[in-house]
Amino acid sequence: MRNHVQVAVIGGGVVGASVLYHLTKAGWKDVLLIERAELTSGSTWHAAGGMHTVNGDPNVAKLQQYTIELYKEIEAISGVSCGVHITGGLMLAGTPERVDWLRMAVARGRYLGMDLQLISAAEAKKIYPLLEEKHFLGAILDPIEGHVDPYGVTHAYAKSAQLAGAEIVRQNRVIDTRQRADGSWDVVTGKGTVHAEHVVNAGGLWAREVGRFVGLELPILAMEHQYFITEDLPELKGQKELLHVIDFEAEIYMRQERQGMLLGTYERAGVPWSPRTTPWDFGQDLLPNDLERIAPSVTVAFEHFPRLESAGIKKVVNGPFTFAPDGNPLVGPVKGLKNYWVACGVMAGFSQGGGVGLSLANWMVEGDPGADIWAMDVARYGDWANRPYTNAKVRENYSRRFRIRFPNEELEAARPLRTTPIYEKLQAENAVFGDYCTLEHPLWFAPRGTPAHEDTTFRRSNAHPHVAEECRAVREACGLVEISNYGKFEITGPGAAAWLAKIMACKVPAVGRIALSPMLNERGRLIGDFTLCRVAEERFFVVGTYAAEVFYLRWFEKQLPPTGVAVRPCAMEYLGLSVAGPESRAVLQKLVDHDLSTAAFPFMSFAPMDVGLVPALVGRVSFTGEMGYELWVTAEYLRALYDLLHEAGRAHGLRNFGGRALNSLRLEKSFGNWAREFRPIYGPYEAGLGRFVHLDKPDFIGRSAAAAEKASGGVRKLITLAVDAKDADASGDEPIWHGDKVVGWVTSGGYGHTTGKSIALGYVDKAVAGESSGFAVELMGERRAADRSEGALVDPQGVRMRA
Ligand SMILES: Cc1cc2nc3c(=O)[nH]c(=O)nc-3n(C[C@H](O)[C@H](O)[C@H](O)COP(=O)(O)OP(=O)(O)OC[C@H]3O[C@@H](n4cnc5c(N)ncnc54)[C@H](O)[C@@H]3O)c2cc1C
Repeated sequence: MRNHVQVAVIGGGVVGASVLYHLTKAGWKDVLLIERAELTSGSTWHAAGGMHTVNGDPNVAKLQQYTIELYKEIEAISGVSCGVHITGGLMLAGTPERVDWLRMAVARGRYLGMDLQLISAAEAKKIYPLLEEKHFLGAILDPIEGHVDPYGVTHAYAKSAQLAGAEIVRQNRVIDTRQRADGSWDVVTGKGTVHAEHVVNAGGLWAREVGRFVGLELPILAMEHQYFITEDLPELKGQKELLHVIDFEAEIYMRQERQGMLLGTYERAGVPWSPRTTPWDFGQDLLPNDLERIAPSVTVAFEHFPRLESAGIKKVVNGPFTFAPDGNPLVGPVKGLKNYWVACGVMAGFSQGGGVGLSLANWMVEGDPGADIWAMDVARYGDWANRPYTNAKVRENYSRRFRIRFPNEELEAARPLRTTPIYEKLQAENAVFGDYCTLEHPLWFAPRGTPAHEDTTFRRSNAHPHVAEECRAVREACGLVEISNYGKFEITGPGAAAWLAKIMACKVPAVGRIALSPMLNERGRLIGDFTLCRVAEERFFVVGTYAAEVFYLRWFEKQLPPTGVAVRPCAMEYLGLSVAGPESRAVLQKLVDHDLSTAAFPFMSFAPMDVGLVPALVGRVSFTGEMGYELWVTAEYLRALYDLLHEAGRAHGLRNFGGRALNSLRLEKSFGNWAREFRPIYGPYEAGLGRFVHLDKPDFIGRSAAAAEKASGGVRKLITLAVDAKDADASGDEPIWHGDKVVGWVTSGGYGHTTGKSIALGYVDKAVAGESSGFAVELMGERRAADRSEGALVDPQGVRMRA
């Protein structure tokens, strides 16, 4: 074993092997993989090897396509067979809601270049004679699905990497990782210590334990997972191999295994495995079968595929594999640990392993994953994702694997957890709450005497008329919304202004002013959008997206100078309320000595003020597009502030509103959101944020790339569409058509209650970005005509917010 390497990859499952291969492919050849036992000794060896391209996140779906296409390449390089069987696949729907879901999946597939076809149950029966047609209403036919040999794939990656210069050491456990002062690592193994510049934790079933060497508690948990293989079915002999099948109602997947059928479940009563610590002596072991647990699914499967019942079971496999709380992988550099990378929590190694390896290797070698992998970024979880949280959410996710997640659905596990001091007050007002990184926040308010409950649906829900009332109050009088769930940072020090000038694209505001700012990476892509409020010469209060707090901190940490600037996250220390609407100034003026007239405190002003007895930071800004104020207070004052504003607002028609109304109001203003309109695949000019980019500043990160984007016009453009929808609005990821071509995708959508229009924001190709007509959005399988709006649908000149 070498004693010094550029990268030490810990773990020789399919993921570690893929990372190793991709590092060599990207040009880093001095790389070493250390495996505790033999390659595939974790989850990999007993996997069913199924693979498919469909994923809830389109960017992950693209990486799944990449993974499947990669098998030819590694077979050719290594000469090792991956045992690829591309059988095609069927996803079977048994309810009208699931048919709606299939339509959405087919629509999404269009801009991802996937060839998904919606077919009838009768057509499915023709292709798949084992199914009982009466139980189904339709299906998706996907030509690119199938299965591989897990052992073959892992060895093909490994051999390809070795041929390029990588070393693999087997039967050698890593027992510690220790960081040196220069940020490099001593990787302590049973066979000695290796000095590595970078460490990759690809420990799979043991990734948690490997993380604990450095005090890291990764939010992953293994679940037991069972599949069985039936005795041979004589009628399969000599026939073309049957397709891979997902039956959503039975919650099973199934494929042919030689002459028998392999059937696996994601049962509702799923059981975690080794919830605290994975034993090091667990090897190529299986867990005891528990067919009772999967009986409810299997019973339905036998009704849906009657031939299976008489087939007899030849073999049962029960093995553990790991999940993150949302079921997507954890990939990337870890905040606070220089040169420490993770590639774990990969629950579908044979669909995702290639994409994970590619993104991580790009990130390490090029400094950027090369694709939008926000959905897999380890930084999407904060400290709130502790072990009990992970346990509750992973179990929920596992049990829901084949269930529909409606666009307006809030999941229940691990709730309520974090609440603000006005939670009970909002509850008393009949708030329907949503969960945001474990913090409860009001979505809308149900009328008194009715259940505080929203029906889950692809169409407009029972919330619709009540959200309309909330929007009306904001546009015509005054509304109050809790905004505690925003991310907040305090940036202080003599070097703060200069540092912000370097990392933000905007002009740094003067004391008492606010600036909206995109944050760019070196490639000029959007990695954040912030509201910069300058409290004093050396003190800034910066507001962004709470879900991206760790993601931002990781970037800030990389850019911080050794002295002169301090960044402090303070999201839960400062809670907030926003009052918005034409009466908002009158309401607030009753409570403060400050002159709030536009002359004295114009749009984008910021100042500390006493609001009654409550010391607050007040900004004149609102995400509703109306005249409005955001008020930030330390948590202990929130309750008093809420009461004061309500008291003062009573005569002005002030009422509570929630996140649903805020979304409707911001859509009417064409205001974008992080992780929707603003993501690392878009540039600021494409996203319509060009006016906040100050190219005349001497230098800032991403400046030259942004200048190039401005000159070229980028490759796509964010536009606003008013869709001729029926009873379902866009919610994101629907294709946008122009004429007969799919030219883009929706980033967010909803109903604009003031305009009475269904609105979609989305990106379209530059070639059609100048067109004023001819657009359509595919909703529920139908192309609905959409009117291009040149600016925002409400107050395009922004007069109201400046009034
Ligand atoms: C029953 C079952 C069926 C499945 N079916 C499918 C399927 O059809 N399709 C699909 O895509 N996925 C399937 N999976 C999931 C799939 O197995 C995983 O996604 C995949 O194996 C994860 O690979 P990994 O490399 O991350 O982890 P692992 O396979 O767990 O690999 C981790 C490796 O790291 C090594 N290691 C850990 N700690 C150390 C250390 N300290 N020192 C040295 N080495 C260490 C381990 O020995 C192990 O070899 C299934 C899983 C199970 C259990």
